[in-house]
Amino acid sequence: VKEIFETMDYGPAPESAAEALAWLVDQGDRFGHFIEGGFTATGEGFESRNPATGEVLALLSQATQADVDAAVQAARRAQPKWERLGGPGRARYLYALARLMQKHARLFAVLETLDNGKPIRESRDIDVPLSIRHFYYHAGMAQLMEAELPDRAPIGVCGQIIPWNFPLLMLAWKVAPALAMGNTVVLKPAEYTSLTALLFADICRQAGLPKGVVNIVTGDGAVGEMIVAHPGIDKIAFTGSTEVGRKIRAATAGSGKALTLELGGKSPYIVFDDADLDSAVEGLVDAIWFNQGQVCCAGSRLIVQEGIAETFLTRLKARMDRLRVGDPLDKSIDVGAVVDPVQLATITRMVEANSSGEVHHAAVEMPKAGCFYPPTLITGLEPSDPLMQEEIFGPVLVSTTFRTPAEAVQLANNTRYGLAATVWTENVNLALDIAPKLVAGVVWVNATNLFDAAAGFGGVRESGFGREGGWEGLSAYTRPRGRTRPLHKVEPFTGNGGAPV
Ligand code: NAD
Repeated sequence: VKEIFETMDYGPAPESAAEALAWLVDQGDRFGHFIEGGFTATGEGFESRNPATGEVLALLSQATQADVDAAVQAARRAQPKWERLGGPGRARYLYALARLMQKHARLFAVLETLDNGKPIRESRDIDVPLSIRHFYYHAGMAQLMEAELPDRAPIGVCGQIIPWNFPLLMLAWKVAPALAMGNTVVLKPAEYTSLTALLFADICRQAGLPKGVVNIVTGDGAVGEMIVAHPGIDKIAFTGSTEVGRKIRAATAGSGKALTLELGGKSPYIVFDDADLDSAVEGLVDAIWFNQGQVCCAGSRLIVQEGIAETFLTRLKARMDRLRVGDPLDKSIDVGAVVDPVQLATITRMVEANSSGEVHHAAVEMPKAGCFYPPTLITGLEPSDPLMQEEIFGPVLVSTTFRTPAEAVQLANNTRYGLAATVWTENVNLALDIAPKLVAGVVWVNATNLFDAAAGFGGVRESGFGREGGWEGLSAYTRPRGRTRPLHKVEPFTGNGGAPV
């Protein structure tokens, strides 16, 4: 492994990978699973690669049934003690995790970029700070739990399965609220991007987190299936594709396990003719080219009012041609690498299968090697076209036009998903009229991709159910406490002879 690192060439990238590569070398030849506070390597090994260069970053372990059993048992043993620690006691650990993540923020950001291919500007300024914020926020909520949620108890052991597009952030969204409410966890990161989860495991050790509270097993979907089927798990929290979400729902049916699903999307981005067009173009760049479009709530369907469509698309194409695609470690890069050759092949296949739309690939200089796909716009598609309906999960925007607000709503809702929607207009009355008619878990007005630990996020329809973040996210990690006292306080009648008032 060391030899591979020594021969790596990251070119003139301003952000150094040295610390992250040194950390990887320090971990030895093979990463294990984090079970009961220690790392154990068993089972087959598999490689994790840097999608920008194709080079091997680390050798990981595919968990076996015995590893999953051990992780679940460790979580079971730890859970009652973790619960009894009480909210303020748990908060101390959550604050410690947040502070240690902050201390190692740069290492987390570079490792994430190496493993996932996302621009360092994004991992450094968005993914890592939002992850840290999630731990701080939930440390505060842990302190409040007994006072604010006296009738709620933890669910128990939570199995958490996450995707590769925001590896550390999705871990934070899952682990922080679960721990705050007194649960213990068995988490499985995506097989392409497990490295920041393993660094987080190291942080758990440094924070002195009691053994068994956080357990992390690595591997592919088969390991996810083992977690879902495990009788020692009380709740499954899954973020990933609708296809796998459907399988998990079927597998957990009748098992008594609690379930939340955060799934895919094909979110509309509606631009009215009175919108501030320059802002709307910038918003769209963020909506669809952030993280190479591999964002569940990406504004991937542009719905623009007919009268301004030509002007808007001309400005958009000019902006697309100025995007910089390249080495994700370069701080000036806008669009980095797609996560894996498999995903690149899927995007390429979907765009090539298009027969009716007009495809505009941004006229940008593309890297000679690695998993890169140019920012792409496809116009002239029918609303029923597969590319208008299916999630591409890549840097590809599809677009159509509308005449009236009612038609905009109808086109926006013409999808099986319902995760997010964006409305761009200078007319606040129009925005307030449109927003509630859009079938989506979140609607942004004159903005896009706004997230906060205090705001619940999640979808409707085939985008899943349940919320992460805020009070709703917390209650998804609790169950009613078994008490005999009535739900509503019954006050005795007084002062009027017992007559109802
Ligand atoms: P995926 O469904 O293929 O995989 C997600 C995770 O599930 C991975 O860890 C994978 O190993 C595991 N998995 C695969 N098969 C499994 C099975 N049968 N049982 C249990 N676990 C299994 O999704 P992906 O390709 O990693 O991620 C992309 C998808 O995630 C997109 O559809 C995207 O929209 C969605 N996503 C949704 C949100 C949200 O909050 N709604 C956030 C991020 C990503």
